Amino acid sequence: MPLFEFTNKTQYGQLRKRIVHNESSQFTIKRGFGDFVAVRPFKYMSNSPYTPGLTRVNGKLYMIPDWVEVLPETTIKDIKAFEEETRGRKKGSKKVDNPTEWRFESKSDPGSYYVVKQISDYKVSCTCSGQYRAKDRKCRHMKEVMGELGIK
Ligand SMILES: [Zn+2]
Repeated sequence: MPLFEFTNKTQYGQLRKRIVHNESSQFTIKRGFGDFVAVRPFKYMSNSPYTPGLTRVNGKLYMIPDWVEVLPETTIKDIKAFEEETRGRKKGSKKVDNPTEWRFESKSDPGSYYVVKQISDYKVSCTCSGQYRAKDRKCRHMKEVMGELGIK
């Protein structure tokens, strides 16, 4: 699982997303990325009904048959086939099969992380204690992620 989607907030308050490669499946966030820093495992999504593959053209790597340029470290394991997606949807399950994770570095305890997980289409969870203090039972990490996912 070497690909990650890395999100941080720019000094103008905009969310910036990047796909990055990391040797280990444990992603370490370097300090100095501002307020909102989140990382989650990432897979490229193929929109083609055919089995996706990878091909190198002029030193660049592309996911085929979509012809989307991908990171040079991408392997076939980092691609999610279109079919896989639809099959998951057809089950009609509200539960997210592979919960996606966002990590937030603790401000009071740098080096330790709170983990936000998407547990259903409408729900996220967080490992911090902020949610128990909040009236609506949602901490700022959950709100950030929900905002990003478009959950109200
Ligand atoms: Zn939290």
